[in-house]
Amino acid sequence: MNSIAIDGPSGAGKSSLSRKIAEELGYIYVDTGALYRSIGLAVLQAGKNTKKADEIEALLPQIDLALRHVDGEQRVFLGSEDVSEAIREEAVSMAASDVSAHPAVRAFLLETQRRLARENNVIMDGRDIGTVVLPNANIKIYLTATVEDRAMRRTLQLREAGKQADYETVKKDVEQRDYNDSHRAAAPLKQADDAVLVDTTGLEFEQSLALLLSLIKERLIDAT
Ligand code: C5P
Repeated sequence: MNSIAIDGPSGAGKSSLSRKIAEELGYIYVDTGALYRSIGLAVLQAGKNTKKADEIEALLPQIDLALRHVDGEQRVFLGSEDVSEAIREEAVSMAASDVSAHPAVRAFLLETQRRLARENNVIMDGRDIGTVVLPNANIKIYLTATVEDRAMRRTLQLREAGKQADYETVKKDVEQRDYNDSHRAAAPLKQADDAVLVDTTGLEFEQSLALLLSLIKERLIDAT
């Protein structure tokens, strides 16, 4: 099976680009952020503190989390509830960033991610895919852009989804999550030594897509 690892900070375009690339290559797209978001949501729903490692560790065995791919689209379930939309709320973004710092949460989600890559050709996006989850991925890409570009894209995305979004507030959130994600002790966000750095600052979606597809196709051909 082939695997493509895409890591990088929030708002770099990882998920929209990965989804499109998966479609193009006939791979399964795995959005690992959705797993951390679901744990964040479960912790909020249980009324627990997202920063308290012991409370969360005690809750984990009760969390029934499942990823399903329906017509190529990933859906996430907590028990029988489809939480794919609920996990996109801003409060859940911050909860996800908090819970993802706990090693017990990362360990809880590791095997799910690795199993998906053993059983399918995958393009998987996250923060530690190239460094921890799939160290032997065929292709590793570290996707980034300036914080201003990322905050602007995120603001527009939220507005398109019919949500209120203030650029300055979104930018602060993005900066906070960047800080949390790259300063935690457990699997911090960082570029793998063998990852290709792609900076999408100032690029339109279609330009970033073309760039990534040519890079990936070239490397997939080299690997065969
Ligand atoms: O990618 P997304 O913004 O949906 O991820 C939500 C949060 O989950 C991130 O801010 C990050 O803290 C965490 N995460 C992670 N490792 C991953 C994917 C996401 O720690 N592989």
